[in-house]
Amino acid sequence: MEWQLRQEMVSIGKRIDDRRLVAATDGNISARLHGGRILMTPSGIALGSLRPQDLVIIDHAGRLLSGTLKKSSEFRLHLMIYEERRDVVAVVHAHPPIANAFTFAGVPLDPCIVPEVVATLGSIPTTDYGTPATDEGANVARTLIANHDAIMLQRHGSVTVGPTLLSAYQKLEKLEHTAEVLLAAHQLGGPKKLSKDEILKLARLREDLGIGCGVEVLRACGLDE
Ligand SMILES: [Zn+2]
Repeated sequence: MEWQLRQEMVSIGKRIDDRRLVAATDGNISARLHGGRILMTPSGIALGSLRPQDLVIIDHAGRLLSGTLKKSSEFRLHLMIYEERRDVVAVVHAHPPIANAFTFAGVPLDPCIVPEVVATLGSIPTTDYGTPATDEGANVARTLIANHDAIMLQRHGSVTVGPTLLSAYQKLEKLEHTAEVLLAAHQLGGPKKLSKDEILKLARLREDLGIGCGVEVLRACGLDE
């Protein structure tokens, strides 16, 4: 089981690298194991070049339990998420360039434009800025990740979570694709928002399908009063 998870993590690392959702040795992936242990990609190796035996295991306090390589400097971010979200089994942190550009420009990844994103991810909010790889960098994400499966860390990168590695990875793909589409829409004169009625229907659909909270969507679109 653990070996299978290691192989899956390696294959997802390769997909992230192939799609240029990270540069050089950026980004990291983790998954929850039994007994509060976390399997995680190590520091210093490109996600596309990993082997299953390169992955490390840390405990809830960030202590290295197994592995010959150094743990990632972003381990605090991953541990904070597992502490905050009991339902999360996998965490993917990447540096998707277009979504990142939105945070550098201070332009939100508007939640009220792409219907499938409204229904599935709800919204993709951006955290305040915090120095990466520190407690501050992890803690700025705490409130948002408690209620969202896909968020942007301001001037840093994305965090996507899910009940499986594949689900956390696919949310990253979706997030960057949304940013690409929105960028194109901005170049074509600016994206147009969905109407209030359509957002209400999507919020209801999100609840009916058991995907997540509809009120959160309404709040993000300014329709919760
Ligand atoms: Zn990073």
